[in-house]
Amino acid sequence: MQRSHYYTYKVGSEEHSVAKVSYPSEKDALLNATKFNAYGKDIHKLVAYKCSKCGMWHIGHNHTEMTDDLREKAKQRYKELCDESKKVR
Ligand SMILES: [Zn+2]
Repeated sequence: MQRSHYYTYKVGSEEHSVAKVSYPSEKDALLNATKFNAYGKDIHKLVAYKCSKCGMWHIGHNHTEMTDDLREKAKQRYKELCDESKKVR
């Protein structure tokens, strides 16, 4: 499980790291994580977490594999989150 401020990737044998996208609140991070879980192509689930380095929120993979069932749940959850944020605005 990656709980880092950085996202690392390999190009050939070279390892690069870039700062992850930061979200100002858990809600923002969760909304994006849920959107990726519902409509993304990743086989692993994305979760939101608070970064100890910058104090902002990032999203990262956990080791849960996305099943059709989980994707359906994520779609429903995403709708709920969207409706909630509409109510606030
Ligand atoms: Zn960070």
